[in-house]
Amino acid sequence: MKAPMHEHVEPKDGGFLAFIRRTSWTGRQYNAIRMDQHCLHQEQQKRLRRLLDIARARSPCYRDKFRHLDADCTDLAEFPVTTKTEMMAHFDEVVTDPTVTRAAVERFIADIRNVKEPFLGKYCVAHTSGSQGQPALIVQDQLVLDLLFAFQMTRGNPRFRGLQRFTQAVRNLLHPTRLAVLISQQGFFPSAWIWERLPKFMHRFMRFLFLPANDPDLVAKLNEFSPTVLTATPTTLDLLSLKIDQFHFPSLRQVVTWSETLTEPARRRIAEAFRVPVMDNYAMGECMFLTNGCPTASGSHVNADWVILEVVDEQYQPVPPGQLGHKVLLTNLANTVQPFIRYEIGDRLVMATEPCGCGNHLPRIEKLLGRAADFFWVRTPTGFRPLTAYPFQHAFDYLRDVREWQAEQVERNRVVVRLEPIPGATPDLTTAQNRLDERLAPTGLLPELDICIETVTRLTTDVHTAKFRRMISRVGVPDDLDPSLKNVVRDFALFQA
Ligand SMILES: [Zn+2]
Repeated sequence: MKAPMHEHVEPKDGGFLAFIRRTSWTGRQYNAIRMDQHCLHQEQQKRLRRLLDIARARSPCYRDKFRHLDADCTDLAEFPVTTKTEMMAHFDEVVTDPTVTRAAVERFIADIRNVKEPFLGKYCVAHTSGSQGQPALIVQDQLVLDLLFAFQMTRGNPRFRGLQRFTQAVRNLLHPTRLAVLISQQGFFPSAWIWERLPKFMHRFMRFLFLPANDPDLVAKLNEFSPTVLTATPTTLDLLSLKIDQFHFPSLRQVVTWSETLTEPARRRIAEAFRVPVMDNYAMGECMFLTNGCPTASGSHVNADWVILEVVDEQYQPVPPGQLGHKVLLTNLANTVQPFIRYEIGDRLVMATEPCGCGNHLPRIEKLLGRAADFFWVRTPTGFRPLTAYPFQHAFDYLRDVREWQAEQVERNRVVVRLEPIPGATPDLTTAQNRLDERLAPTGLLPELDICIETVTRLTTDVHTAKFRRMISRVGVPDDLDPSLKNVVRDFALFQA
C-alpha cells in the first residue's frame, strides 16, 4: 500500500513561501479547462487508482464490496453501486480512518458551536441531503475545500481566462474579491458552512459579507459593501431583481446561484436585472466542488479531473449525452476519508453534446431536473409571499429519525406536515416543531402560519402522476397576486410542466 498521494500543498497556513505555493497551486487548478480528452482521462485514472487503493486497503466495507474484482481493476463500470442507505448503515466500515465513527460525528454535529471547528482536528463534516430521502453524514478531507475555493477563484471566474489570469491573481491581491453571500440558515449544511471554512490564505484575496436573505437592511448593507460577486439561491435573486432599482453595484462582475435549480427563464431575468453573467453551481454535500457555472450557456461544467459523474438509467446503464438520465453515480476523487465510489444520487440530468462556446473543455451539464424549489404563496399583511421547501427540508434534515417529509398547504396560511419515520423510529414531534419554527423564523412568515405536524407510517406518491411530491398546495396561486410577482409564478408553472 502506497502512502496517500498529496497533490496539494500542506494544509497548514503560514509563511510567505507557503503562501506562494498555495497561491500557485490554486492558480494551476485552472489548467483542466484547457485539457484534451486524453489528458483529462489520464488525470481521472491516476486519481481513481489512488482512491480505489485507499478504499481497498483501509475501508472494510469497500474491501468486501470489491472482493470479486481484480486488485488492479480501475474500470468503474465493473464496480458495484453504493446507495445512501448503505453508506449510512455501514458508516463505520466505509470510512478509512478508524477514529472516525458515526457516533462521534453525530455527537460533534449535535453541537452547533462546532460549525467552525475541524472534526478530530482535521476533517470537515456536514449533515445533508434529506431532499433525497434519508439524510447523510459526510466527512471530508481538507483537499475538498481547497479545491472548492480554487475552482471558484479560477474556473468559476469568467475573468480568469487566457493570459489575463496571471494579472488577475495580482489584481485580486490589490483589490480583493468582495463576495456577498445571502444565506437562509446556519448549521452543518454544506451550503452554509463552507463559507466558514475558507482556507486562511484565501482571505488575502477575498472579503466576505454574510447576510440572511431576509435582513431588513439588506439593500443598505449590500450597497455599502458593493459586491463584485453576489451569491444566493435563484429564488432569492429573483425576488431581489424585483427591486433592482434600489441596488447600486458598480463593481459587480458575476452572480452565482446555488442550492436550487436555476431555470432558464430565471437565469434570463436575473441576468437582465443585474447585467452580469449568471454562473449556476450545481453541487451536493457529497461533492461540493462538483461543478462551476458557465458564463455563456445554461447549466454548469463538471470538474471532471477530480470527480467522475456517470449519468445512468434505472438499470445503471450509461445514458449518452443529450438524453435525460434517471440518476447519476458520483465518484469523488478528492475525498479519501469517506470514499464515495459510484454513489447513487437521484438527480436527473442531461449532458451537453457539443463543445461549449465559453472555451471550457470540461463536460457541461446542460439541464438538471428534480430540484425545483416548490413553494406556497402565503398571505401576509403586506401582500403574498412565497414559502419555499427549504425551511422544511432544513428542519427535517436535522431529524435523523425522519426518512421523508411532505408539506400540504390545505388553506392559504395553514400547512399540514407529515413525517415518515425511519423504520422502528419514533420522531419527537415537539423537537420537529421547534426545528421548523427555527427555520421559519428568518423568513418572517412564522407568525402568519398555522402548522400542524403529524407522523405517518408511509408517505405515498401522487395518484395521478405516480411521482412523490414534498410540497402540495390545495389552494394554488392567489388570484389577486401582485403582477410584479407573476413571472416567479410563470417560471414555477413552467417547471412543473
Ligand atoms: Zn461553458
